Amino acid sequence: MIKPRVRFAPSPTGKLHLGSARTALFNFLFAKSQKGTFILRIEDTDKERSLKEYEEDIISSLNWLGLYPDEEIVRQSERLDLYERVVKHLINKGYAYYCFCSKEELEAKRQEQLTRGEPPRYSGKCLQLSPQEVNKKLDSGEKYVIRLKVPNKVIFYKDFLRGEIPYDFRLLGDFVIAKNEREPLYLLATPVDDHYQGITHVIRGEDHLPNTPKQILIYKYMEWDIPVFVHLPLILGPDRTKLSKRHGAKSISEYREEGFLPEALLNFLVLLGWHPEGDREIISLDEMIKEFKLEKLNKNPAVFNLGKLIYFNRYYLKKKTTKEILELLDFSSYGNWQGDNFKALNGNIYSLEKIFKIIEMGKERASVIPEILSSVDFFFKSFDYPKELLVWKNSSFVEIENNLQKIKEIFYKIKEEEFVAPKIKEILDKISENNKGSYFWPLRVALSGKEASPPPFEIAEVLGKEKTLELINEAIKKLKSFQ
Ligand code: GLU
Repeated sequence: MIKPRVRFAPSPTGKLHLGSARTALFNFLFAKSQKGTFILRIEDTDKERSLKEYEEDIISSLNWLGLYPDEEIVRQSERLDLYERVVKHLINKGYAYYCFCSKEELEAKRQEQLTRGEPPRYSGKCLQLSPQEVNKKLDSGEKYVIRLKVPNKVIFYKDFLRGEIPYDFRLLGDFVIAKNEREPLYLLATPVDDHYQGITHVIRGEDHLPNTPKQILIYKYMEWDIPVFVHLPLILGPDRTKLSKRHGAKSISEYREEGFLPEALLNFLVLLGWHPEGDREIISLDEMIKEFKLEKLNKNPAVFNLGKLIYFNRYYLKKKTTKEILELLDFSSYGNWQGDNFKALNGNIYSLEKIFKIIEMGKERASVIPEILSSVDFFFKSFDYPKELLVWKNSSFVEIENNLQKIKEIFYKIKEEEFVAPKIKEILDKISENNKGSYFWPLRVALSGKEASPPPFEIAEVLGKEKTLELINEAIKKLKSFQ
């Protein structure tokens, strides 16, 4: 088999969103699995809507996902000579023609056809113009577009997953392929590039299905080999409507800013239309490359499930080493680094070793990167809580106060170097006997101000004996107060 050449061809009219990233991923996987070539082509022929910032967002998002192109990036705006040559060739061969009809004229015709119950399509009026008439109009600077002649019949075209699909050109009419020789529209520019870039497989979203027969027509008129067309299934929201922001679908860069990991996004994306063998769902990019098969793509719509993305993110966060996570974290809203020590906003100073422990605790509860620190922010910031929160189930304020007093007295006697989680836990287990909640719970609240936090003995170790005693005292003070 010849080595495939595939391309991802986004229009830079918006950020790289989930659906496009999935298209990029499947192209990349197919190329890599077959030792082929993955190309990135920026389709920026729409001058009004194409923005450099979107192009940059697309490229940086692909890089972040690790979907690097194998060749230099190609921009359609830099290939206008090529499209001009093809347009002129199509005109010379009589496959395309100039159309001088005004917008008003076209609209009036459209209305007429609709009232007659006919499909609205171009009448073919300008096809009747003689070469002399056309030249005269061109010379006098009349405005025009270029249309492609379509056959007056149904044709069949092939999709790799769906087989032969009929397309009725009689309903379409001659369609516009360029605003002028140097302003091609998508329908023309894309097959021209696919041909000249030697693309063997066009893998793109199902929304492009109706474009395929139109583009195949251009291949036929130009006598080019037709690539294999593969249309990826639609992505729907959980309510089975077209995926949108409403369903929590965002651009890749937004997910990145929110603290999702590229591994999680890739894993999530690949399952929107493909599945590895067996029941397993966790799969790395390298494994995807090894296992990917084009024929295993699903043609039924894929359903987006945000919960799944969060599940993958938690999974991949947990798998990272603490050191790897340290590099991903932004500590700026919690204090600042002073060499290897971190000085928190509440004045606490943590060694790197303690920061590692904090990260391990935070990692347990986090779905996205920033939650690693925000779920344990009590280490860094002063906090407050209502005194009722200290109370465990049916216990009274007095009972809780006594229990905290007891804890305090025992902690006081522990030597500084022995103030470590297992030892603290052992002591708490001993004094709390069969009423654990009424000791562990108030201690947790005293040390974190939260209902949900890592175990209090782990927090105590990191805070150190002095700070722990200080926070227990504050809790006792709260319980004694009358408000
Ligand atoms: N530029 C087109 C788009 O962004 C894709 C072209 C294609 O894949 O054929 O929708």
